[in-house]
Amino acid sequence: MKYLLVTSLFILTSCYRPPPSQQSCNFVISKDSQRLHWNKEFPIKLHIDDSVPEIAYPAINRAVMAFNDVIKDHQVFVFADDSYATIYWRNTWNRAIPNEEAVTTLNFIGSEIYKATIEVDAYNFSFNYDYTDVFIKVDLESLMIHELGHVLGLAHINSSGSVMYPTLNSGEIRRELGIVDINDLECGY
Ligand SMILES: [Zn+2]
Repeated sequence: MKYLLVTSLFILTSCYRPPPSQQSCNFVISKDSQRLHWNKEFPIKLHIDDSVPEIAYPAINRAVMAFNDVIKDHQVFVFADDSYATIYWRNTWNRAIPNEEAVTTLNFIGSEIYKATIEVDAYNFSFNYDYTDVFIKVDLESLMIHELGHVLGLAHINSSGSVMYPTLNSGEIRRELGIVDINDLECGY
């Protein structure tokens, strides 16, 4: 029995091959050259922390719908209390890069994401929640679409037609996924 076990372990080890490198499709790539992706079925459970003011809810909801309306035939995100992804509103900000409107942190093992955290910098920035202050403030809906793209594993891309463009200036609006974003997500999921 002992001999058999050792033998089977040896066979498993000798049969292991690293997976072939994947095309990035603008996803973050893991050390073993795989696209980061969720280890759960869609929809990804998203929770709005109590720190987020209610005035922000409609813009967050519209950002979620931007994904749910265009990606294949299923929901991408659903609001839930027992979440894997959480949005926090930060009224203090001690990070090294002060001009970030928000930061998304992914927890993953290998190439599988199991947790995501979005933190909105409400200390250094003020936000437009609909269309009233859009020319002088950061458009929250556009910002949330970008961060939710990160939640799914997308990286930045220097394409003006993408919600994953690295910067969002005050007054800029990017409230719809671009063709490039839709193609990338369909490649990754
Ligand atoms: Zn970003």
